[in-house]
Amino acid sequence: MINENFLKLQAGYLFPEISRRIRSFQAQNPDAKIISLGIGDVTQPLAPAVLEAMKKAVDDMGSETGFHGYGPERGYDFLIEAIIENDFKPRSVDLDKSEIFISDGAKCDTANIQEVFGVDNVIAVTDPVYPVYVDTNVMAGRTGQANENGQYDKIVYMPCTAENDFTPELPSSPVDIIYLCFPNNPTGAVVTKEILSKWVDFAHGNKAIILFDAAYEAFITDRQIPHSIYEVEGAKEVAIEFRSFSKTAGFTGLRCAFTVVPKQVRAYAKDGGAVEVNSLWSRRHSTKFNGASYISQAGAAAVYSPDGKKQTRRIIDIYMANAALIRESLTKLGYGVFGGVNAPYIWMKTPKGLSSWDFFDILLQKANVVGTPGVGFGRAGEGYFRLTAFGKPADVKEAMERFAAI
Ligand SMILES: *Cc1c(COP(=O)(O)O)cnc(C)c1O
Repeated sequence: MINENFLKLQAGYLFPEISRRIRSFQAQNPDAKIISLGIGDVTQPLAPAVLEAMKKAVDDMGSETGFHGYGPERGYDFLIEAIIENDFKPRSVDLDKSEIFISDGAKCDTANIQEVFGVDNVIAVTDPVYPVYVDTNVMAGRTGQANENGQYDKIVYMPCTAENDFTPELPSSPVDIIYLCFPNNPTGAVVTKEILSKWVDFAHGNKAIILFDAAYEAFITDRQIPHSIYEVEGAKEVAIEFRSFSKTAGFTGLRCAFTVVPKQVRAYAKDGGAVEVNSLWSRRHSTKFNGASYISQAGAAAVYSPDGKKQTRRIIDIYMANAALIRESLTKLGYGVFGGVNAPYIWMKTPKGLSSWDFFDILLQKANVVGTPGVGFGRAGEGYFRLTAFGKPADVKEAMERFAAI
């Protein structure tokens, strides 16, 4: 028998529907040069320091002395040490090597982590949300059926709109697992230490766990904004953090990420006993995963070399210049624009109260520009539209000129 939970999943509607509308438009307008600001994928090539390190790693693999077979499941020390020294120490976060788990992606990590938590856990997600958090919990059986808005029974949705600065209110009913993603995909919102601290206190008071997705921390420009949830006091007892080289260093096609599970994180057994989550995750990770490739880990470690840092910073600066151009252009045109300052996403209000999909169609037809309808990320995203800053600068510039001509 199949896992019936899969039958509860709403059809993967958003991106297939976008492709369908683009294909249909292109068929009727074969000469139109469509520019996509819809993709959540990077476009700049890898930093030279990363390439060099990987070429050397390839040579290692072809030599008698440098060959690497299975590596440690949790990742090579050379990468874990570089992460601790560069990503956490400078922010006064002390982590032990045993608290970092290297993987091949934050997408799978945010999904897989739930395996160590019972199916009765109530999960809370922001609305709009990165769909992976929701769909993977549906698959695991942690939800009921979806309603006509696509919202699943038993999930607590926390609306994020302009009215609350795209930061969720604390849940009013008990929840066990809270997914937070800051800088946020899709809204581009960030949170201060004070706000994160409220969530950490809530987790302490409710024996809840925060799953903190920091995939976009490298895009933060404001010095006041925390890059890691562990910059907040007390977070090490209640939070698990996800990081990825995908957006930071263009590893979407290469694959390398990591999860931080501090030794202090506790979850509770039915009898009330506190259990160390780190050891459960360690068991799960090493049982089901055989390690990220030596070559991509060598590439990831090079992101922390002096040249690697400079080069990846330059690439991020290109994307953030795109974000600034999108923000300024749309603001000048009178649109309500959010995000794009500490994140590569611009979240705009659709004009004249248009629905997300109506605006998608108008933009495609009049400007031949593609974005992502906000409602595709959740009900509270209706009336919003996502543009990404990951395009090529010349395309972004042209897209903004076309916006002006709508
Ligand atoms: C892109 C992205 C990730 C990174 O996923 P990888 O599997 O590491 O490529 C994680 N979380 C969010 C919200 C993202 O948008």
